[in-house]
Amino acid sequence: MQGLMMQLPLLISGLIAHADRNHGDITIVSRLAEDPHGPLHRTTWRETHRRARQLANALAHLSVRQGDRVATLAWNTHRHLELYYAVAGSGAVCHTVNPRLFDDQIAWILAHADAQVLFFDATFADIVARIAHKLPQVTHFVQMTGREHLPAKFPRELLAYEDLVHRHSEHYAWPQLDENTASSLCYTSGTTGNPKGVLYSHRSTVLHAYACALPDSFGICARDTVMPVVPMYHVNAWGLPYIAALTGARLVLPGPLLDGASLHRLIVDEGVSFSNGVPTVWAGLLQHLAQQGGGLGRLRRLAIGGSACPPAMAESFARHGVEVLRTWGMTELSPIGTVNVPRADEATLAPERREVQGLTQGRPLPGVELAILDDDGQALPHDGESFGELVVRAPWSLRQYYGREEGDGFTADGWFRTGDVATIDAGGYMHITDRAKDVIKSGGEWISSIELENILASHPAVAEAAAVAVPHPKWDERPLMAVVLKPGAGLDRNAMRAFYDGKIAHWWLPDDLVVVDEIPHTATGKINKLALRERFRTYRWQ
Ligand code: ADP
Repeated sequence: MQGLMMQLPLLISGLIAHADRNHGDITIVSRLAEDPHGPLHRTTWRETHRRARQLANALAHLSVRQGDRVATLAWNTHRHLELYYAVAGSGAVCHTVNPRLFDDQIAWILAHADAQVLFFDATFADIVARIAHKLPQVTHFVQMTGREHLPAKFPRELLAYEDLVHRHSEHYAWPQLDENTASSLCYTSGTTGNPKGVLYSHRSTVLHAYACALPDSFGICARDTVMPVVPMYHVNAWGLPYIAALTGARLVLPGPLLDGASLHRLIVDEGVSFSNGVPTVWAGLLQHLAQQGGGLGRLRRLAIGGSACPPAMAESFARHGVEVLRTWGMTELSPIGTVNVPRADEATLAPERREVQGLTQGRPLPGVELAILDDDGQALPHDGESFGELVVRAPWSLRQYYGREEGDGFTADGWFRTGDVATIDAGGYMHITDRAKDVIKSGGEWISSIELENILASHPAVAEAAAVAVPHPKWDERPLMAVVLKPGAGLDRNAMRAFYDGKIAHWWLPDDLVVVDEIPHTATGKINKLALRERFRTYRWQ
């Protein structure tokens, strides 16, 4: 027997319509990409909805049809937000591209996705000009500014965003799409091989937003001021542009300025209460606070993920009255899978247990199922000790990569293979010990590079540390630490080993350390292990 309830599809246009109807006057603050040091731009949810409808009419005028890919190379700004809603709301696919990739990768992704229209910030006009000749499929190039900011020379006809918006009517009725219609497309950064496309749907996006807003997830409500620091070109800024509309939160969009001083100013001046980002960005903010002093205003919660958050970082934020929510996810998972929010019964746990649990990536969002498998694909117990490959399924995890064979990256019964190595305890807390390809294999046993990094990151002399697996004649691989020191600080091999002593098994002790000026990062802000492995491949052990 069927239920007798209305069958209204879960649509992204429903989120912005809701924000307009119920939180229309709430402010959206944005730095402008074309004038980042100028005055902040201020708009509202109502105005955003109105301009998104104008833009939807403009897209129709540019012959964009349902299912077409409309690409963006853009920072977190109000215009990018308008595009999110206009493109997906009208039934096209908002294809966000990471501008930090190499030119060839950007061109490859745009060609693979067959993007027909390309919107870009003035900051990225040079990139687009360089690759325009490789983009025959792109019929319209639009710079996201007024006409006065258009470059004097550009290899193809160039439209101005503000012209498009102003020329078109605000009368537009969002189509009642099937909720499984594709809404947005994001490529993984592809550290090995070509990037892979993940094609989200309206349903997966809306359900992900509902689950992320819950109190035991990000806990976002209409009283919050939310600042997505995760770029809107990287997995939809972890869904925050949708979650903010769903909850009617105030939104602060930092544009191109992601350095510690600029973020600090926005957090304090705009009363940001919730933000998100990868550890490297927050290291910049903490460094700024250490040098310049000052507090973090109304900031209360910070979701940190993408790579493991070192305990020292969480402790520093706690001293500023900010709770760190450790978060695990991936592009293939929209991206949020788990969040670490303490449960009431944790107050009664033994302190060691509480500490261990506090360092994990947390419990799955409702709807997310996790399992860990051994090398033969058999499920391992959730005892907090056994570790194996993490597999996942959820209404917002992918079932097939865009333009790839079905089954690629999945178990026989359809769970997504994450490539992460993890433990899960009886309470459901998941702990990533490594990425399968980053794990250090010493004498047939595994050493967790994340754990080595976390410990050394808490050393007072260390600004950033990376554990690298380096080939070793006897043990196969041994850990070498690449370390960036704080200004004026020093650290040698013996002092490092003494610091680790008692904190890890003896055979995990890193054999050596190399002080470097900089640790390479990927386009999504993770430590670039591939580059480090390559650099130290021929390292001569003493
Ligand atoms: P890519 O895989 O292209 O680098 P993603 O952002 O999708 O980009 O990265 C997902 C991966 O990031 C996960 O599979 C995991 O290895 C790592 N990761 C994400 N969050 C965490 C976390 N909190 N702790 C440790 N690793 C994490």
